[in-house]
Amino acid sequence: MEFKNVTIAGSGVLGSQIAFQVSFKGFNVTVYDINDEAVHAAKTRMEKWQQRYQEDINATEAEVKEAFESMHFSTDLKEAAADADLVIEAVPENEKIKLDFYHKLAEAAPEKTVFASNSSTMLPSQFAEATGRSNQFLMLHFANEIWKNNTAEIMKHEGTDMNVFDDVVAFAKQIGMVALPIYKEQPGYILNSLLVPFLDAAEELLVNDVADAETIDKTWMVATGAPKGPFATLDVIGIRTPYNLSAAKAEAGDKKAEKVAAFLKETYLDKGKFGIESGEGFYKY
Ligand code: NAD
Repeated sequence: MEFKNVTIAGSGVLGSQIAFQVSFKGFNVTVYDINDEAVHAAKTRMEKWQQRYQEDINATEAEVKEAFESMHFSTDLKEAAADADLVIEAVPENEKIKLDFYHKLAEAAPEKTVFASNSSTMLPSQFAEATGRSNQFLMLHFANEIWKNNTAEIMKHEGTDMNVFDDVVAFAKQIGMVALPIYKEQPGYILNSLLVPFLDAAEELLVNDVADAETIDKTWMVATGAPKGPFATLDVIGIRTPYNLSAAKAEAGDKKAEKVAAFLKETYLDKGKFGIESGEGFYKY
């Protein structure tokens, strides 16, 4: 099936980017959010995306204006989903909110509609039943700054129809993404399955005083030819995220993570060093 009408549900940081990119690539886009304030916030974000498309990927003013003006905005789920071929869900990363949303969407959308979730940490089997069409449900996970970090991880669960999976892979390519098919449920998809243990290992080397951050980065870069080491990567991500991950593991009783969390908090976060966004993290910018 070819998707023409695409509804993006939740128009926050990622939803507003997904909607803008899909519209930029010529699809009919409807943006759904819960109230007028949220829609207004999405429109304000999209003004920024219009600038960034011109600066980062040389889009013309006419192209970004057209992408923005052709979108339809709605706070009525029934109307927003009425003729959708595909709904991409980008509502908050909270199981209860997502379950509640899928129960309502299942009622509102016609039978033909395929549902895809942009969740970063949850699994499709958590929601498959709530969608009321588990064979037409899967994950379609984008990265922040979608117009230049253009990965799309497409992940099925056991019950996803293979034709639906292939259609979503094709759609991801049509909207300018590098499509990355994932055939089995995997927490963290491909990227975070690789990245999180890698960054954890680097943090442990550092907090155990094995070597300093620069030496650890240099080792990785010279030995593998990678352009950045783990600590330069953490500065890009922002140090709050690895702190939150370690703090959560520490709460669950992980002693190594407890040491990492305390170190990140005292050495960086408490001193206003959040990574590139604040001008300093493991490195100065
Ligand atoms: P966000 O908080 O910026 O945006 C969430 C949006 O959903 C808001 O506009 C909010 O009004 C809306 N919303 C709340 N309840 C809703 C409901 N019941 N129905 C419809 N809309 C509702 O969040 P975000 O960072 O854009 O994340 C959204 C999803 O995208 C999450 O699943 C997250 O894991 C995923 N994601 C985020 C990033 C990122 O870098 N922020 C990257 C990849 C994936």
